[in-house]
Amino acid sequence: MSGREILVAGGGIGGLAVALALAQKGRKVRVLEKAAEFGEIGYGIQMGPNVARMLERLGVLGSLEPASVFPQALIFADALTNEELTRIALGDAFRARYGHRYFVIHRRDLHGGLLEACKQRSEIVLESSRGLKSFTQTGDTVTVTCEDGAAYEGAALIGADGLWSPIRQAVIGDGAPRMAGHYVYRGVVPDEQIVDRSRINTMTIWGGPDLHMVQYRLQGGAVMNNVATIASRRFRRGEQDAGAPDELEEIFARAHPGVRDNLRYVSRERNWVLHDRDPATNWTSGSVTLLGDAAHPTLQYLAQGAQMAIEDGVVLAEKVAAAGEDYNRAFMAYQRERMNRSARVVLSSRFFGEFIHVDGGARELRNALARGRDPDDPWEVDWLYKGIDVNGRL
Ligand SMILES: Cc1cc2nc3c(=O)[nH]c(=O)nc-3n(C[C@H](O)[C@H](O)[C@H](O)COP(=O)(O)OP(=O)(O)OC[C@H]3O[C@@H](n4cnc5c(N)ncnc54)[C@H](O)[C@@H]3O)c2cc1C
Repeated sequence: MSGREILVAGGGIGGLAVALALAQKGRKVRVLEKAAEFGEIGYGIQMGPNVARMLERLGVLGSLEPASVFPQALIFADALTNEELTRIALGDAFRARYGHRYFVIHRRDLHGGLLEACKQRSEIVLESSRGLKSFTQTGDTVTVTCEDGAAYEGAALIGADGLWSPIRQAVIGDGAPRMAGHYVYRGVVPDEQIVDRSRINTMTIWGGPDLHMVQYRLQGGAVMNNVATIASRRFRRGEQDAGAPDELEEIFARAHPGVRDNLRYVSRERNWVLHDRDPATNWTSGSVTLLGDAAHPTLQYLAQGAQMAIEDGVVLAEKVAAAGEDYNRAFMAYQRERMNRSARVVLSSRFFGEFIHVDGGARELRNALARGRDPDDPWEVDWLYKGIDVNGRL
């Protein structure tokens, strides 16, 4: 163990990943989490081979395997006709190309695996109910004050405090994130409740006018994760009740009955309002930097937000290890390496969000392009799944 403590604000997937990566480099880390307990919400998350490689480096991939599901294919289907338009097979050729498998996992299992690994490291201190309120930098010391008055000094501070990061406001000051006008309803139900079992071993996305549905199984196939998203017309018109459950029904009314039927599996009790931000050009101020959603929040259309946060963590730790006690140098090198890749995810996710939700002639074109694509040439995702080496190849 070397040096003074590095403070991490936020104990989500990104905060735990960077804590673990820094501990592997022998650094002392204190994770300050606002919530009363370290945890995650109860839905699924997709993990590509790019992040599997990172999880392997962090030493947790093996422990996640029993809770993971390895779908046979990623399928894109038309939500109005239920026609399969294209697929990416996730078998041996995929694994040979990318070196790892694609898997899906319950968020609690992923977060729990990272948390357990953090608990095993003597370098890491985990503190809950410690919401960061403010921080100051003097010389080579960062002082953090928490909402409950507790104060900590460290050599550096990493803001892994999510979409609404107060640290981002101190570093960049760009205000609230951008509302996309997309609303998400989710549900995890026992597998035996699923009526249409024709694509049960796949990760399927149905895209339609202002809507899409995602389905994949979790926890060894015991449960099915269902996600229904709408691009709210009420939001675009500036009306009240944008994204409300009745708009969900309204927009899905045009979907094929077999697709619409999946709405029975999503809860109406809560929805998630999607946000992102335009890519920033600087996340670092002195010995303070940002990571994960605090740095580059993205829409979910490439399913890469958490994966980028984990990649961030691995790269950041590499740069810290290379820069000794010069955290500004380490953080500048880290952001330089992460900026274009994460910006590409943010902007490509916006594009795919449009591409999935089109109607009319644009839908005809989308379907023709999807049907015509070479299933053995995954150019759209190749740059992503090939991932990074630690020197940050794009
Ligand atoms: C519908 C949907 C589906 C998605 N699907 C995928 C997917 O399949 N694959 C994928 O990779 N990504 C996916 N994402 C994105 C992913 O959920 C996020 O990118 C990821 O969780 C970001 O992790 P994070 O650790 O940066 O932030 P968060 O998960 O937001 O964690 C931030 C943590 O900081 C804490 N915190 C907040 N404020 C403070 C403070 N002041 N002080 C201390 N702690 C604080 C919070 O309590 C929280 O624990 C999806 C997102 C959505 C909305």
